[in-house]
Amino acid sequence: MNSSAVAPAKSSDFIRDIINDDLEAGRHKKVITRFPPEPNGFLHIGHAKSICLNFGIALEYREKLPDSGTRCHLRFDDTDPIKEDTLFEDGIQEDIRWLGFDWDGLYHASDYFEKMYEYAEHLITAGKAYVCSLSDPEIKEYRGSVTTPGRESPYRTRSVEENIDLFRRMRAGEFKDGEHVLRGKADMSNPNMKMRDPLLYRIRHTEHHMTGATWCIYPMYDYAHPISDAIEGITHSICTLEFENNRELYDWVVDNLIDYAKFPSCPHQYEFARLNLNYTVMSKRRLLELVEGKHVRGWDDPRLPTIAGLRRRGYTPESIRAFCTSVGVAKANSTVDMAQLEFCIRDDLNHKAPRVLAVLKPLKVVIENYPDTDVEELDASYWPHDVPKEGTRKVPFCREIYIEQDDFMLEPPKDYFRLAPGKEVRLRYAYCITCTDIIKDSNGAVVEVRCTYDPDTRPGSNPVNRKVKGTIHWVSARHAVDAEVRLYDRLLLEEAAPAGKDSEFLHSINPNALQVLNNCKLERSLATSQPGDRFQFERQGYFIADSKDSKPGAPVFNRIVTLKDSWARSQKK
Ligand code: ATP
Ligand code: MG
Repeated sequence: MNSSAVAPAKSSDFIRDIINDDLEAGRHKKVITRFPPEPNGFLHIGHAKSICLNFGIALEYREKLPDSGTRCHLRFDDTDPIKEDTLFEDGIQEDIRWLGFDWDGLYHASDYFEKMYEYAEHLITAGKAYVCSLSDPEIKEYRGSVTTPGRESPYRTRSVEENIDLFRRMRAGEFKDGEHVLRGKADMSNPNMKMRDPLLYRIRHTEHHMTGATWCIYPMYDYAHPISDAIEGITHSICTLEFENNRELYDWVVDNLIDYAKFPSCPHQYEFARLNLNYTVMSKRRLLELVEGKHVRGWDDPRLPTIAGLRRRGYTPESIRAFCTSVGVAKANSTVDMAQLEFCIRDDLNHKAPRVLAVLKPLKVVIENYPDTDVEELDASYWPHDVPKEGTRKVPFCREIYIEQDDFMLEPPKDYFRLAPGKEVRLRYAYCITCTDIIKDSNGAVVEVRCTYDPDTRPGSNPVNRKVKGTIHWVSARHAVDAEVRLYDRLLLEEAAPAGKDSEFLHSINPNALQVLNNCKLERSLATSQPGDRFQFERQGYFIADSKDSKPGAPVFNRIVTLKDSWARSQKK
């Protein structure tokens, strides 16, 4: 890991307890973890949890055991040649680095294909594996069920010589896909179905993005993963709970090969609860469906929980790491509320994002008693009192300004403290104005508000102490910067995507997860904002200048998050 790596979070959980025990008992003198993504999609926030855990552990224990060789590998788990791509490998590396981590070695499961083949021949020779020629449906049928034991394959008794011969011919490409498989000779009556003579190799006449046309047989995950771990000397192989049943097979593979292969470690697998978030989807299959079906604008669409999407949305790496720490590492699956992620980004941006004025749905206000040619430059602070930072800019004030349509009401209820006919309101950093008249269009909609201002209410110039309850934001019409603003919200309307058939979840997509506003008016200072700049638009939320579409002079802003949990409130209504 390089110096860009982050300081370790001081947290404790059952995995760190296991590691501490192992170190104390002398079972290990160093800690080696790995993050093993399959390069068949982009990473999501669930992967971030695994990244923080694996890389975080390596950082922490390297501090405790400085010269021990403690480290974390990045390993692409590329055993399925059909779905994998180098495009995804590049994206995954970018995302891990952006999260603030770096790896001590970049590996591929395919680096070990030759070794895996050799070990398979060893298993055959040791009477631990055989070539099975049942068809896929037959294998399934012979395997039995949770309640009925499996039956042994008629090919289970093939001689070592015949098995070696067939397996070599499988490698040589003499057979079609599905004609034979290599299976471990384990236990067909084991209550754990994974142990019922597991598939170790299958025939796939498909080129691989790393090994090209070298292979037409490919190892299965359950065979490749423990071997890759063991070859790399992984001590603690951390994965998610759904692999609990695979652990027995993991151990079977390692135990049957360790004496022959002389692995540098005897790795063990530990499972933790995967991260689930409500109002979104995280399985790669579903993400792929959203992207390929053009329901979103790509893997980095800010509606998605992908790391690329969250980055473009404006999330910071710090906020995502803080979120992962706050979620913790547990043994029981649960679903985390999206509000918890939003809390983390608000908490981070509160002291990072300068406050500015932006009107998203503009309504013109003409201040009739303000001279047309005058412009006043008023002081406006970038930071609120409770953020210990300094910095101000000038905001121009003149006769015509824009306010938010929502900040004006023709017939307001009693507790409405913004602008209304005959009512007075304070303009942030500027004067108090009183509504004197309105102009409607032919449909009766208010298109312009007429006001007068009170010169005695200029901030800082001995203002008249008047009780004006409401303060609203505004921008000078003449100086405003036109912008497109994209308001993002939750991807799904329902807390949990319907299970069932794959595409059904598409019906619960929130049609307002993206609202594009084309006529927004930003304060003058934002004309020069650079892609990636983050601000709080006062009273509206946190926003970022889009990394792809925003340009100085023609800004496009994404809403990262509202200032409060507006979703919870809108759902209660
Ligand atoms: P998905 O199930 O979302 O399609 P996957 O598990 O197939 O993803 P991999 O590329 O195999 O994705 O995952 C790499 C690592 O990230 C694995 O160790 C996996 O356990 C972990 N991981 C994947 N999803 C989550 C999650 N939601 N929470 C925590 N860890 C996860
Ligand atoms: Mg997987």
